Amino acid sequence: MFQCFGYAADEPQAALSPFSFERRDPGPSDVVIKILYCGVCHSDLHVARNEWGKTTYPCVPGHEIVGEVIAVGQAVRKFKAGDLAGVGCLVDSDRTCQHCRAGLQQFCESGSVPTYNGRDKHNGKQTFGGYSSHIVVDQDFTLRIPPNLPLAGVAPLLCAGITNYSAMRHWDVQPDDKIGVIGLGGLGHVAVKIARAMGAHVTVLTTSAGKIEDAFRLGANDVVVTTDPAALAPLANKLDLVIDTISTDHDVAMYLDLLGLDGTYVQVGIPEKPLSVPAFSVIARRRNFTGARIGGLPETQEMLDFCAEHNIVADVELISPAEINSAYERMVKNDVKYRFVIDMASLHASG
Ligand SMILES: [Zn+2]
Ligand SMILES: [Zn+2]
Repeated sequence: MFQCFGYAADEPQAALSPFSFERRDPGPSDVVIKILYCGVCHSDLHVARNEWGKTTYPCVPGHEIVGEVIAVGQAVRKFKAGDLAGVGCLVDSDRTCQHCRAGLQQFCESGSVPTYNGRDKHNGKQTFGGYSSHIVVDQDFTLRIPPNLPLAGVAPLLCAGITNYSAMRHWDVQPDDKIGVIGLGGLGHVAVKIARAMGAHVTVLTTSAGKIEDAFRLGANDVVVTTDPAALAPLANKLDLVIDTISTDHDVAMYLDLLGLDGTYVQVGIPEKPLSVPAFSVIARRRNFTGARIGGLPETQEMLDFCAEHNIVADVELISPAEINSAYERMVKNDVKYRFVIDMASLHASG
């Protein structure tokens, strides 16, 4: 077994604490990655605290992983020791269903294996995520990391980046399309950068006037503070696509009405409670209300290459592994610009 150490939650109410554990011995097609940075996604917090009700403890969260390859199995051709590598939200799938064959592993019919809180197909044991020293992953679920980008800022692309990129590609964003990004947090700030790089005209819709300046700095063409409904009126029926990144209860109807004929509303944030979609709003202009989740492996690689070409990384606040609990407290208050990323250097120094 491959000995690792990291940070784990032992129960829903507990703070994350240092944790030693084993990963499977690397097989012929496995890559062993020394983790350098891991982004802190809102899902990590939901799962660590069992807010979605499906957590197995102990739980090592983290699915925005970048690091250095330190060993490869004999069948691995894609990587060699010393290469940079990344791991996102998935580490395996059945690889045989129609969606896997199409490169859409996120929609695997028998259920893809999440990077943490999943079931490792090799040994039947629980998967542990990136708040840790090392990870052992099949080369087919490992991404090449472009060398020109600052590594800490790349980590969040592996969940926040691909979630936005995949939605914008699927709904075929074209130059000069009018896109609304609702919420300027971890997901939203990357959405703005990617949409602009695709040539779209981007309007940020935020409840916080304090974010106006940042929204423009991140690339927004327009910013609307939505606490004043009158400010939304000029935008009615104007947008082609809306990306809704809000993960708390909110009024969808207000934003739906901003879409023009056949416009599409993509929910990517995951609020706990069901959202209310008024029938009249979708009927009136044949609007589509839909959702999207991450991307498959080929598209995730395409996203990383796109971000390298356009110099896109997330805006991050670096923390040490021991600071994860205070980071969670700040995340709950939306007090982060715009993603926490754990720097694993101290973990390797102490280990
Ligand atoms: Zn995530
Ligand atoms: Zn499948």
